[in-house]
Amino acid sequence: MSERIEDTGTLVEDHRLTPGTAKALRVAAGHVVQIVDLEGQQVGDFIAYRADAPGEYLSPAHTCSCLVKLVPAVGDELFSNHRTPLMRILRDDVGSHDLVVPCCDPERYSRDYDLHDHPSCLAGLQAALDAFGSDWPLHGELAWNVFMNNHLEDGRIVTYAPPHGAGSSIDLLALTDLVVCLVACPQDLSPCNNFAPSDMALRVWDR
Ligand SMILES: [Zn+2]
Repeated sequence: MSERIEDTGTLVEDHRLTPGTAKALRVAAGHVVQIVDLEGQQVGDFIAYRADAPGEYLSPAHTCSCLVKLVPAVGDELFSNHRTPLMRILRDDVGSHDLVVPCCDPERYSRDYDLHDHPSCLAGLQAALDAFGSDWPLHGELAWNVFMNNHLEDGRIVTYAPPHGAGSSIDLLALTDLVVCLVACPQDLSPCNNFAPSDMALRVWDR
């Protein structure tokens, strides 16, 4: 049983995110980013950039390649598009994540549901980056689908409702200065969030 940052650290940032909304913030090397599902069965989409080199960012595809696995676990590092480790997973209550599919975007809802004004992770992330004052490029395929319960079955990607409960969290150690952004996924038309998106928290701890 690993120690919990709540018992040993100092909370320096705490932001509550309603579905479809996001927060971007700077994280110093050595601080711990904590993603919390406040109400349960909720997925967040997470992106990160090197603060000193925004052209280098967390890459789910490179992370899968470097780890030689589809789902990272406690102790694993998360890699950039230049295969630099940017974060390390210190603790994870959930253990299921998707690094294959992009975050939901306006086209996901217009193409698949004929809905043309549905909120999306991509729009939420973009709004948060805009509010942060960044003009760094955002690509939906660079989002890590935190806590998403996707399974590969006979070559198909099947989404199941996440089984994890309220208060589940994951702790990520920043290995370099980063800008990170988290959105609470507003997908209410698939099992992704068990058809009922709910709030998440983005916290930063000094340990
Ligand atoms: Zn989404």
